[in-house]
Amino acid sequence: MVESMFATENTIFSAALILRQGGIVAFPTETVYGLGASIQKPQAVARVFEVKRRPRFDPLIVHIARAKDLHLVAWSNDLAKRLADVFWPGPLTLVLLKKEPVPDIVTAGLPTVAVRVPDNDIALRLIDLAGYPVAAPSANLFGCISPTTASHVEENMGRAVDIILDGGPCRIGLESTILAIDREDQPTLLRHGGIPVQEIEKIIGPVAVTKSRDTVVRAPGMLPRHYAPRTPILLLKGTQLMPIEMDRRIGLLALTRPEKNFGYRTVEVLSQAGDLREASANLFAAMHRLDATGLDLIHCQPVPESGIGTAIMDRLRRAAFSGHGKQFDSLSNRKGEQNK
Ligand code: AMP
Ligand code: MG
Repeated sequence: MVESMFATENTIFSAALILRQGGIVAFPTETVYGLGASIQKPQAVARVFEVKRRPRFDPLIVHIARAKDLHLVAWSNDLAKRLADVFWPGPLTLVLLKKEPVPDIVTAGLPTVAVRVPDNDIALRLIDLAGYPVAAPSANLFGCISPTTASHVEENMGRAVDIILDGGPCRIGLESTILAIDREDQPTLLRHGGIPVQEIEKIIGPVAVTKSRDTVVRAPGMLPRHYAPRTPILLLKGTQLMPIEMDRRIGLLALTRPEKNFGYRTVEVLSQAGDLREASANLFAAMHRLDATGLDLIHCQPVPESGIGTAIMDRLRRAAFSGHGKQFDSLSNRKGEQNK
């Protein structure tokens, strides 16, 4: 079992050496903790897929230390340059035509590569010292909740990685926004994330959003059920709560504190003030805690779908996906449960 090490110049240096030698490193970014391998070491990249039990068809995001290194891995264009100027370092991933040095295993054989510059000094120093771009998905088992602290990584995959750098809780707490720019310079949003699409549209004008039907083709990893705790989740249709039967072990994930408890065993509040940025930073840690409480069910209240709220709702819907992809309103859901 690898215990995390507080990130210092020395431990970051050791981690970079591990990357150079073909090892794998868990490290903090502003979005979630990543599990990185140098793209110069395809076998290390293969180990990342194995350790995460991630299907090989699901391509990884390549992390670079500065926008001017983009040319190492991808063909840039005017839109990409304008977006990089504004949003890098930051939670925006650009999907562009790939260049030769990126091995096929990183892109799952696609002719494109996903790239970003993380906004975290530890990550930037690590990539810089590694001397080569770093491919890094989130440092959790495939389909599980993403890690936003070093201890989440320890619990989820502490046996399988070479080193875990602890840089404290992630500032954004949600994965990056992914935007593909095709040969005709057409931008398409592939995943909602840390940067709201409206912010992107302010810079480059209208952005097409992939419909869920073709997302699987355009962004192979975007499976409907993802980011999910082991405990079943119901996404309530509205924010109104109803009393629940006391013999059911149900937890609540709420944006703000409800005016009373309604019989929930435990309540996780994402932001006292109802601030969506604070809520996104707390979301995955709250899900981890609820999942560790031994509940039968977790009820999630929806949050307003504006700004980063769109990305929060995207993650809640994926976590709640039951095979029917339904949302339940609090009343009918409770009746349904009673009928079981
Ligand atoms: P993550 O799991 O957060 O590392 O994000 C990786 C996701 O980025 C994948 O699951 C894909 O949805 C998307 N992605 C990565 N590379 C590409 C690519 N070349 N084309 C389209 N989507 C990509
Ligand atoms: Mg992930």
